[in-house]
Amino acid sequence: MAEDRDWEVELLLDEIRDEVRATAHLTGRSVLDRRVFDALRAVPRRAFVPVDLAASAYANHPLPIGHGQTISQPYIVALMSDLIRPEPDDVVLEVGTGSGYQTAVLACLVRQVYSVEIIDALAEQARRRLQRMGFDNVEVRSGDGGLGWPEHAPYDAIMVTAAARSVPPALIEQLRPGGTLVIPVGSGYFGQELITLGKDEAGQVSERRVLPVAFVPLTGGASD
Ligand code: SAH
Repeated sequence: MAEDRDWEVELLLDEIRDEVRATAHLTGRSVLDRRVFDALRAVPRRAFVPVDLAASAYANHPLPIGHGQTISQPYIVALMSDLIRPEPDDVVLEVGTGSGYQTAVLACLVRQVYSVEIIDALAEQARRRLQRMGFDNVEVRSGDGGLGWPEHAPYDAIMVTAAARSVPPALIEQLRPGGTLVIPVGSGYFGQELITLGKDEAGQVSERRVLPVAFVPLTGGASD
């Protein structure tokens, strides 16, 4: 069984490498950090998808996780993880825990992950799942992640996995100078763009458009 999974994972990683090469003209990345691939190898995606979809766990697609939400496509998880340029000592805020899969990948890459999920049931499920799997450098809270998680700010990086109409100001505030925020921006499923926002040491903010994407919407007051 374990060998089956290794084989499935390596095929998935090959597909991700191909897609990264095919989109390099947009993203500016023709190869991803090998630590990102190590993290994808270390986290069994099967444990984060509904049991009846286990056979599709290693397909390079988003999958439904209930409550109208989805677990992101593995290529997007890999790309977003790479875009924040994670360092082993970093503290990262994630908005949109969902299944907790992206949270787990981040937890392999950085020192501490704080993740906020607006749907209580998903937050509770992800918290228990991550705990059971032994991720002790993750905290999950239910609430409106558009407001960030001020108690642990500033963050070395912030990752938002739901599409906002515009970048929530609280998140820019909670990013440390020198840090990177990655977020899909746009309304509806079409016309969204993945954006990276950097804050320099003087606090000046600059945005870069990376790629057209399709995420579920960021809900809650802070995103209106
Ligand atoms: N990263 C997730 C993808 C989840 S989809 C994974 O790997 O599974 C996006 C998630 O964002 C959904 O679970 C949705 O409920 C959540 N979300 C939407 N608006 C939010 C908000 N304002 N604050 C926190 N979470 C939010």
